[in-house]
Amino acid sequence: MHKVDSIGVGDRTPKDRRGLDVLRDPLLNRGTAFTDADRDAYGLRGLLPAHVHTQKEQADRFLSTFRKLTDPLDKFVALNALHDRNEDLFFSILVDHIDEMQPLVYTPVVGLACQKFGQVFQRPRGMFISIKDRGNIANVLRNWPYDAGIIVVTDGERILGLGDLGAHGMGIPVGKLSLYTACAGIHPRLCLPVTLDVGCNNDAVRNDPFYVGLRQKRVTGQEYDDFVEEFMTAAQEVFPGVVIQFEDFANHNAFRLLEKYRGRIASFNDDIQGTAAVALAGLFSALRITSEPLTDQRIVFLGAGEAATGIADLIASAMVAQGMTLEAARKTCWLVDSKGLVVKSRTDLAHHKLNYAHEHAPVADLLGAVKALKPTAIIGVSAVGGTFTKEVLEEMARFNKRPIVFALSNPTSQAECTAEEAYRHTGGRALFACGSPFDPVTLNGQTFVPRQGNNSYIFPGIGLGAIASKTKVISDEMFMKSAHTLAQLVTEADLAQGSLYPALPRIREVSAQIAAATAGAAYESGIAGRIAAASALPDIEKLMYEPHQRA
Ligand code: NAD
Repeated sequence: MHKVDSIGVGDRTPKDRRGLDVLRDPLLNRGTAFTDADRDAYGLRGLLPAHVHTQKEQADRFLSTFRKLTDPLDKFVALNALHDRNEDLFFSILVDHIDEMQPLVYTPVVGLACQKFGQVFQRPRGMFISIKDRGNIANVLRNWPYDAGIIVVTDGERILGLGDLGAHGMGIPVGKLSLYTACAGIHPRLCLPVTLDVGCNNDAVRNDPFYVGLRQKRVTGQEYDDFVEEFMTAAQEVFPGVVIQFEDFANHNAFRLLEKYRGRIASFNDDIQGTAAVALAGLFSALRITSEPLTDQRIVFLGAGEAATGIADLIASAMVAQGMTLEAARKTCWLVDSKGLVVKSRTDLAHHKLNYAHEHAPVADLLGAVKALKPTAIIGVSAVGGTFTKEVLEEMARFNKRPIVFALSNPTSQAECTAEEAYRHTGGRALFACGSPFDPVTLNGQTFVPRQGNNSYIFPGIGLGAIASKTKVISDEMFMKSAHTLAQLVTEADLAQGSLYPALPRIREVSAQIAAATAGAAYESGIAGRIAAASALPDIEKLMYEPHQRA
């Protein structure tokens, strides 16, 4: 196993690797950018054409062909192929063109790539661990040739807003880990994407001749739990201290698994906790514009799943920190699910909705809830596109000077409204954030620049902070710190153009700051052994992987 001592540090091209072995390993290969000295040292003479290109020239060459592609899926495939050839080049391009590339390696295009995963499959990346590996998972993990520092694991049951894609959900952990590296400088060798293949209940996916996963229905119940338990234990045994991020599990497993493991293993569920932090940060930014206190807000969520209850929990914690009781804080948050407003008298409520089931007469839908409750903010996390209708938005604008409208569902087709709709139907007064990217909107001579309320602002920094500090667990306090840190990085110029988040090209600075804040919080609360709060930022910056090749 190739060890990496600390994040981002390690021998770029180990001396025991030579020739084609180096050129064919994407973690080592630099293609025509290998210097003359490297070519001598690693036995590459004759295996490469004579001219030595700079990495920048290589990037220009890639981009000149890449930008001629018009189909987003073709672009995804081209990027994937580059990722499989030359990781330094791939990540340098991601970092330098993050606005252009993030929507391709991550949402929304990764959603399409998962739907077509079987068709575009070329080389496996990460580990596919199936229910057939039961009893042998530790040995399977030992087949991974590197020392994992962070695992993103999915069972593919709730991929974005697209439902059960089974093993084809692997695109998500792969994409997410690419962002861990690009946005937070976690060395690619430390990143392990994992799909737990327990079957797939989506007949169309499972019966597709190109489907790559097990052709059986999902294993559930005790057998499923035992399988996950074996994986979690084996991962700690093979990669001691590895951080584990749960990704795109369906509701009925996501909450349970998070509760089961969060106190035992440095683990978190980004759909629940990362989303919460990014949404709270957006709310803090919106309140800088309205100058209203957080404790005066009334928030209606469309959707009552992982994202909604995760966000509501963190908002409630933030209100408690400002002096409210937990009970009063929870009462400021209301959920609307597919059956209408979540109210106490309903008998069909899943456990995770109960904290937000308040006393109220039944209300059939979102418009009814907005009319009845007069919220200051609506947050869409329903995965149902177009649900923030003209009527809903106009109603919000009727009684709010600056209605807060977050349409966070992904991918774009699932967004509750577009940026254009949000601004148009509120007379340009909406304080808007979106899960998927939208272009700037000009209305009555004013240009609004909506930014993505996407957890990609949060999870890379949380992961970096957790690895750097070797925290034993990932606490709620760390997520609260990340929300405050993100919000503090939003400038007055951002706010003036309606942007509730910093510009994406600042993401490495954002992630470093979040990592420092969360590592510091972990240290101060005694759950981490390294990285003292005082020196956290420079210590963390030193650890970050830098894909750019020095000339
Ligand atoms: P989930 O499956 O846990 O929750 C979806 C909820 O929506 C469920 O409670 C369901 O009952 C409800 N719902 C379904 N149809 C509805 C309807 N017609 N009206 C009202 N409610 C309805 O999923 P989740 O993890 O909470 O994610 C939801 C969406 O949020 C997805 O599209 C996901 O991509 C997106 N999301 C975005 C971010 C981000 O960073 N922007 C982060 C996490 C999730």
